[in-house]
Amino acid sequence: MSFENLNLHPAILRALTEAGYSTPTPIQAQAIPEVLEGHDLMASAQTGTGKTAAFTLPALNLLATPHPAKSRGPRILVLTPTRELAAQVNEAARKYGKFLRARTVSIVGGMPYPLQNKLLSQPIDILVATPGRLLDHMERGRIDMSRLQMLILDEADRMLDMGFMPDIERISSALPSERQTLMFSATFEGQIANIAKTLLKTPKVIQI
Ligand code: AMP
Repeated sequence: MSFENLNLHPAILRALTEAGYSTPTPIQAQAIPEVLEGHDLMASAQTGTGKTAAFTLPALNLLATPHPAKSRGPRILVLTPTRELAAQVNEAARKYGKFLRARTVSIVGGMPYPLQNKLLSQPIDILVATPGRLLDHMERGRIDMSRLQMLILDEADRMLDMGFMPDIERISSALPSERQTLMFSATFEGQIANIAKTLLKTPKVIQI
């Protein structure tokens, strides 16, 4: 199995070659085709399995087709529990989206508002954010979510433990309902299963 078998856009394959990746990891081989087919996804995979590329690569593939709307808001939103993880996802999206000229922005707590307001006033393809600060900007009317096509929750179990679920529910209800939702979590037990039920539509389930 190689990345060439996965129907990813040539600009993404080029970035993968440059990154030195030749073979998809198991989570990538399973998740990428489902996401490219338009399914919602519930995937349990730990850090180190290649989960970041498993959602970033098929998300980036969306950008190969121009969005018909003229507005400037993000087409892909990734929520992460921590600033560090947001930085990692942002870095990965930049690396793999380089030849698609993907415009990525990261919005996390603890950073100055004026800088973030400036970032949010520019055209965005991929927005990577922690839930609290994102909701804050959304409630101030600073983000146009009308172009949003994909919501990704990374490390959903940690976001639950950190008390972010009420924020995530508010964010999700303010997004277009015609969208794809992907949820990555170390576990799908307990309350996470209920949250998956409310956020995902007939998801494909992947366990690594
Ligand atoms: P993650 O589980 O997303 O944190 O990724 C773990 C590490 O594996 C990261 O440093 C990635 O750059 C690297 N990686 C992800 N996918 C591949 C792949 N298909 N081939 C080689 N390295 C990879």
